[in-house]
Amino acid sequence: MLYYSLKKQAPAVDFRQATIAGQAPDMGLYFPERIPKFSPDFLRELKHKNKADLAFEVIQPYVGNAIPEQDLRRICAETVDFEFPLVSITDRISTLELFHGPTLAFKDVGARFMSRCLGHFSQQREGKVTVLVATSGDTGGAVASGFLGVEGVDVVILYPAGKVSSIQELQLTTLGQNITALEVQGTFDDCQQLVKQAFVDQELTQRRSLTSANSINVARWLPQQFYFCYAWQQWQGEEPPVVAVPSGNFGNLGAGLLAYESGLPIKHFVAACNINDSVPAYLLSGEFEPKLAVPTLSNAMDVGNPSNFVRIQELFKLDYEHIKNTITGYTVTDETTADTIKRVKNEQHYLLDPHGAVAYHALEDYLGQHPHDQGFFLETAHPVKFYDTVEPITNEKIALPSAVEAILGKEKKSIPLAPDFAQLKEYLLATA
Ligand SMILES: *Cc1c(COP(=O)(O)O)cnc(C)c1O
Repeated sequence: MLYYSLKKQAPAVDFRQATIAGQAPDMGLYFPERIPKFSPDFLRELKHKNKADLAFEVIQPYVGNAIPEQDLRRICAETVDFEFPLVSITDRISTLELFHGPTLAFKDVGARFMSRCLGHFSQQREGKVTVLVATSGDTGGAVASGFLGVEGVDVVILYPAGKVSSIQELQLTTLGQNITALEVQGTFDDCQQLVKQAFVDQELTQRRSLTSANSINVARWLPQQFYFCYAWQQWQGEEPPVVAVPSGNFGNLGAGLLAYESGLPIKHFVAACNINDSVPAYLLSGEFEPKLAVPTLSNAMDVGNPSNFVRIQELFKLDYEHIKNTITGYTVTDETTADTIKRVKNEQHYLLDPHGAVAYHALEDYLGQHPHDQGFFLETAHPVKFYDTVEPITNEKIALPSAVEAILGKEKKSIPLAPDFAQLKEYLLATA
């Protein structure tokens, strides 16, 4: 499988090169030259496959011969070594719980897969790779946990000061070893911009081999298809489900669309956003206008210029009508998010996190207008990650999972940074 740059000014590369580079030299995102189709046999037997085999079969065509079968099977098995339960909340709404991994958010899947792929590739090359990653909250922890102790890989995480939850911050600032956290006095979009600039700075890229662990990296983006398949394995409805995805950078939704393009039965997608809603606005108007990110209760979705949106457009060959008929966008305010957390807790005895609450509300609204449909939403993080938001809404303490208890007493270590590329560059050159 080859990957081309969406800016079309760089040569096509294989999975290995795309993973190591993260982003194409022309700053475009890599995109697979074709979308593999699931065979009728695969779809018929899907419900009986184990998680690791299923993951391997989904990802293998994308990896091609860049990783030998045995290694790729091991990488897949390690990546999905936790549960992905589909839990019913009402008679029409279920939740796909994606928070049973080590950092309690769906990003564990992509980060674990990518770290193992990069670890595999770095065994065959000289010198260190530096993973440079911007986080709006959960990426940092997942990447730190996935890459901790991986030989030949240094990780530098940029996060917006004061804009991530306290547990998220501990997850990315307390591990040490090959993981460094830079605390940027700015927004997530500033962090993302700094990372993008670093990749095109010639002096820097000559001195350090940089890659991205954001969902722009294909090795993080593509494995997110797995759990859409796991949901389908557990789906009991007669019709295919409507799937609501709480969205920020649109990697998750983009991965769901890939699985759908490959033939996974899904009736419709709901793109659930907080007020950072450039994609829902596009779905209404046909015009895409990036905006400045605004802080909300669902902080991991505070993205004004979602980087994976171009991949969704490419997947639909820029056909706006087709996109509009497949995805319905929703904008959900903080007030509605808080009401939804409270209401679903009181009436259904299910505790949502703020991101899941955005998706729950959007799905409920969509199903209200489509009385014969049923669906599920992705619960992208455990509510305890946002206890500072959720507990005041429900007035109840959330029990701490052991993964969280272990980091609470640890000391935060971060390096403050202005949202200024010169400072980042200086730091990266000094530590090269
Ligand atoms: C990252 C994240 C999202 C947004 O996912 P994208 O792939 O960026 O759209 C939603 N919810 C949580 C909890 C996240 O960490």
